[in-house]
Amino acid sequence: MGNVSVAIDGPVGAGKSTIARAAAEKLGYIYCDTGALYRAVALHCVRSGADLKSPGEIAEKLPSAKAEIRLIDGVQRVFLNGEDVSDLIRTPEVSMAASAVSAVPEVRAALLDIQRNIAAENSVIMDGRDIGTVVLPNANVKIFLTAAAEIRAKRRYDELCAKGESVTFEEVLNDLNKRDYNDTHRDIAPLKQAEDAVLADTSGMDFAQSVQLVCDIIAEKTKEQR
Ligand code: C5P
Repeated sequence: MGNVSVAIDGPVGAGKSTIARAAAEKLGYIYCDTGALYRAVALHCVRSGADLKSPGEIAEKLPSAKAEIRLIDGVQRVFLNGEDVSDLIRTPEVSMAASAVSAVPEVRAALLDIQRNIAAENSVIMDGRDIGTVVLPNANVKIFLTAAAEIRAKRRYDELCAKGESVTFEEVLNDLNKRDYNDTHRDIAPLKQAEDAVLADTSGMDFAQSVQLVCDIIAEKTKEQR
């Protein structure tokens, strides 16, 4: 088998990034978090004062936003016009902005090749919203990772509190529901389970069990293809 590509899609806070990162480490694959690219473009739009309700203004900012993924010691870092913004893109403000910019067709088109090139060159676990449906329709393995909204919100709330952000659980749950609504209802590349994706619901599972489930699905699917 050549390079293996694993697509993991799902709603906000399903644990995609932490679970995918741990599974990739176990299997010796690269891990790629595609949301970081949308977040980098969003940060650029926020910084340059674009009206996030205006798709035209967002598209206008695109030529001056060079978003890149670089692997440093096998770990993904995201760069915006040469600046490492990996940590700056993790605020609730940038999360909401990412949700807005990701609905703009020009943004999605601009980020497509970056994602496909990574999968062409590496065995990769790539997570996002449209990886199995649009970015890598021929991925060897597709997983739709989800959990109940309250459980996802609680995990995200704990993460933000640990980082010292002052938020309430209700704010986190509202933001999560709003972003999920935007992602599932946009015209272009909406979040949905690919027909050939395996559904993985981690509601009743702890982190280690979720990682094991993902690794088991990958092992089973790649065995079938050998
Ligand atoms: O995964 P994360 O929450 O970091 O993604 C930020 C935002 O980027 C999401 O809310 C979604 O709107 C968008 N996104 C997307 N397609 C992807 C990855 C992320 O539309 N493949």
